[in-house]
Amino acid sequence: MPPCNECAKLIIQVGIKRVVYLPSPTYEQNERFLISKKMFGVAGVVCEAYSGSCDPIHLTFEDQNDAYVNTYTNDNSCNCGN
Ligand SMILES: [Zn+2]
Repeated sequence: MPPCNECAKLIIQVGIKRVVYLPSPTYEQNERFLISKKMFGVAGVVCEAYSGSCDPIHLTFEDQNDAYVNTYTNDNSCNCGN
C-alpha cells in the first residue's frame, strides 16, 4: 500500500529517506498518494514500489489483556485509515 499524504508527512518529519511500498494500481492513482509523491520529491525521499512477489499479509494486534485491538491485511489503501 502506498503511503497517504498524512503518513508521508510523518515519514518526512522523522527523517526516513527511502520508502518501498506494495504496489496497488488503484491506490497509486489516488489523490492522497499523488500528493505523497510530490511531498517525497520535495523532501528528497525516495519512494518506490516493491517489484518482487509477496503473499498476502495478515497481522492481528492484541493488547496486554489479549483483547482485540486491530487487524491489518495488506490491501489497496494506507493502513492509517486515510
Ligand atoms: Zn496513511
